[in-house]
Amino acid sequence: MRICRYNADKLGLVKGDQLIDVTLALEKVPKVRWPRPQGDAMIANLEAIIPQIDANRKMGYVQGVNNVTLKSPIANPTKIIAAPANYMDHVVEAREDAEINFGRAIKTIDDYGLFLKANSALVGPGEGIRLSHTDRRNDHEIELAMIIGRIAKGVAYEDALDYVAGYAIGLDNTLRGFEDRSLRKSLNSYAVLGPWMTTADEIENPDDLSFRLTVNDKVRQDSNTKYLIFDCRKLIEYASRFYTLFPGDIIMTGTPEGVGPLEAGDRLTCEVDIIGRMEIDVR
Ligand code: MN
Repeated sequence: MRICRYNADKLGLVKGDQLIDVTLALEKVPKVRWPRPQGDAMIANLEAIIPQIDANRKMGYVQGVNNVTLKSPIANPTKIIAAPANYMDHVVEAREDAEINFGRAIKTIDDYGLFLKANSALVGPGEGIRLSHTDRRNDHEIELAMIIGRIAKGVAYEDALDYVAGYAIGLDNTLRGFEDRSLRKSLNSYAVLGPWMTTADEIENPDDLSFRLTVNDKVRQDSNTKYLIFDCRKLIEYASRFYTLFPGDIIMTGTPEGVGPLEAGDRLTCEVDIIGRMEIDVR
């Protein structure tokens, strides 16, 4: 099932190039007062929402998925976790490119662990990327994104995928410079998630998905998640050793070689096997 958020926070079910309005299914989300429970309410109530999506699909208004503004399918993650230096070919290119490494030694995820991107950086593909600090390089990084489905702490490697609600395409965009990653990767619109969440039942093996990113129709990144240094299970196991994962938390799994600069006016296309394809304009 492909579930999206679009326009003024409607819930959509995507079938091929059509989108069905299933916003009524959100009536299964309990009304809450302050303080809200941690996590994304749509994902936390997904088990109750999915039967309601099925019940509403025959009645919902249908339109072309290309005619709406796609937002991030996750509205309220408690955190966006990201994996630095998790493909060896990207580690090699970072070591060779002074505009990426800024004189720093480049290690791998084994040394770095994980980092966090600000939630306020999160947008959907229809909202686009607004570049900032354009006197410096701003790079794209396409990544498989995992969406956590339920509370997870101290998860065993072999159980890790049981905690995934679904998958999406992620962009972990980066301002190059001397500052800490968490600052340079947290600018507004520098975390893109979309075009929808493909539920986990549709992806048997997230560690063998081909993906590709083009800028103005030229291929920049083209790889497969089988080359991850920390694979999907290990990322969840590792993250859950340090912090509790909540429904809707996003794990961006890392980017392969081919990162490169974005300019205003660029159009990105991002594709991941099974999940699909999204287009993003850069302003
Ligand atoms: Mn990244």
